[in-house]
Amino acid sequence: MHYRWLPISDIPVQGREFYFTGEQEWLAICAENNLDYEISQGMTAELGVFPQKHGVYLKGSIKGRVNSPCCRCLEPGVVNIDHQFELFEDFEETQAEQTGAGILKFENSQWMINIRQVISEQLQLAMPDKILCGSECLGLCPVCGENMNKGLCRCGSVSGDPRLAVFRQLKIKNK
Ligand SMILES: [Zn+2]
Ligand SMILES: [Zn+2]
Repeated sequence: MHYRWLPISDIPVQGREFYFTGEQEWLAICAENNLDYEISQGMTAELGVFPQKHGVYLKGSIKGRVNSPCCRCLEPGVVNIDHQFELFEDFEETQAEQTGAGILKFENSQWMINIRQVISEQLQLAMPDKILCGSECLGLCPVCGENMNKGLCRCGSVSGDPRLAVFRQLKIKNK
């Protein structure tokens, strides 16, 4: 597993590639950033780190699947991730912000980079705002909480589902 913070001076000018694979790596990425994602097996990320005079250039990709509950019905949902990214982190801007929790930090008179933070931020960017089990998800009944994808709930029949209303009328006519 990669170290959390790396001195940028350890990375050659021509750049260095980092690979993120394996369960432990992803568990660490999610835990450090309080991400409530369940990463499927086989999730991979590549990150190229290229030190520049005034900052660091980052380029990479994330591919794989994330399991997360559907926001409508709470059943398991799957998100396919295929995300490419390219960004530049500026030393001067980082120093001006002084947030201390970002991708770069200046410590013991050298610049350090948190490569797992890069991947975590990009993974969050790649995730949709709303995770659905399917685009047609009907969600839960607002009255009884039943999963509407699994069929009609009881209160649906009481409040007059149009399809059931037809049956009710038929019953009346039969009498
Ligand atoms: Zn759903
Ligand atoms: Zn209901």
